[in-house]
Amino acid sequence: MIDWLNEAKKYQNDLFRDLEMILTIPSVRDTEHATKEFPLGPGPAEALTTMLDLAERDGFTTKNVENVAGRIEYGDGPETLGVFGHLDVVPAGDGWQTDPFKPVIKDGKLYARGSADDKGPALAAYYALKILKDLNLPVNKKIHYILGTDEESEWYGINRYLAVEPTPDFGFSPDAEFPIINGEKGIASFKVTFKAGPAITGALQLRSFDSGIRENMVPQNAQAVLVGHDLDDLSAQFTDFAAENELIGDAQLEDRGLILSLTGKGAHALEPDAGVNAGTYLATFLNQLPLDEAGQQYVRAIAQVMQLDSRGHKLGVAYQDQLMGDLTASPDIFNYQAGENNSVIINIRYPQGTTAETINQQINTTMAKFGDNIASEIFGHAQTPHYVPANDPLVQTLLAVYERQTGLKGQEQIIGGGTYGRLLKRGVAFGAQFPGQPNVMHQANEYMPVADILKATAIYAEALYELTK
Ligand code: ZN
Ligand code: ZN
Repeated sequence: MIDWLNEAKKYQNDLFRDLEMILTIPSVRDTEHATKEFPLGPGPAEALTTMLDLAERDGFTTKNVENVAGRIEYGDGPETLGVFGHLDVVPAGDGWQTDPFKPVIKDGKLYARGSADDKGPALAAYYALKILKDLNLPVNKKIHYILGTDEESEWYGINRYLAVEPTPDFGFSPDAEFPIINGEKGIASFKVTFKAGPAITGALQLRSFDSGIRENMVPQNAQAVLVGHDLDDLSAQFTDFAAENELIGDAQLEDRGLILSLTGKGAHALEPDAGVNAGTYLATFLNQLPLDEAGQQYVRAIAQVMQLDSRGHKLGVAYQDQLMGDLTASPDIFNYQAGENNSVIINIRYPQGTTAETINQQINTTMAKFGDNIASEIFGHAQTPHYVPANDPLVQTLLAVYERQTGLKGQEQIIGGGTYGRLLKRGVAFGAQFPGQPNVMHQANEYMPVADILKATAIYAEALYELTK
């Protein structure tokens, strides 16, 4: 009998030294600085090559695919088990109490952007592989530990990988939570465009409105610029609005106009209720004002069908499935410039039983009441719902390992997140957030408990062993 947790603890110093090194790399997608050599910018590639160098140091064979994805190999056999992690992170955003790219351990928690999503779990899975190798345990399958560097955006890296490298037969991704995620809702973003047209004359004009940095994050900040008369009164009104809604509001009168800034709470778009959408709140405030026609149309639509509408009832897209639960809707990126074509990007997670095309039609129907210059389109790549049955041996094995090591009951789970689990027909997500832990992924002051990283390492080591013996 192997004491997996004890094995993991032997590697604690090495694991945290390596993890802190990877966390120090700000591996945010940065296509503004993309080159032929670094299609996603330098950060993601640096995290990848650093990780592959660690694996080479430890005696593994590795492969770098175009600086956007990579593989660490171990074992041999007719079948291939894939483990899918990612080394890119979402932008740090505001509200950090420490430097998001200088990891610190405080009260048993490791704070850094990527500590929980997904560098901590990825390093746990890597050390699990290393434990298997160092213990020289029998491995009768190939293990391909595959690392993507664009999971938080368009999956460019992993898609390049699967286009040019062999696809594993089955596998798991350490990029969600325990006990297991064997089902995932469909994910699609919808871009609602407000074509320039309505007049922008009037005593009070909306010059610009901006909120949101990623289409999969509830926006934490929003800013609007107004020009017109009596702006001083508006400042007071805005401060009251912010206070009533327990938000942080700031109004500054500058040469270019009155700048209104609102701070809500960022969160992962898969559960909009976990955040406070600064964009929809700011539009709700502006909707009370006698704005110019174009500005008014924009904020009215947002205030009326997007504010506090996490299940899409007002937007007209609500849907529910017994197995997969509620559709969720999160308007995450707002761009408005007076006189231009403007937009809102809404991220929607939908259960089986509806489709991205249907949802797009429903949004168009709803938006038509605000004007005929508004249209919705599916934005980027839509992903359909994914499900591996609970009686699949992969699910059964992983749950058995989880139960044995934690003493907790495991059960199937379906989420709104899109993980690499969906890359394979028999693919699931497995860890590494433990039940009862708050989900801090994509948020300011993201952390992962040190003890949980070690527990996850032990669980992954046994899982690799059981799945390949
Ligand atoms: Zn992730
Ligand atoms: Zn993420």
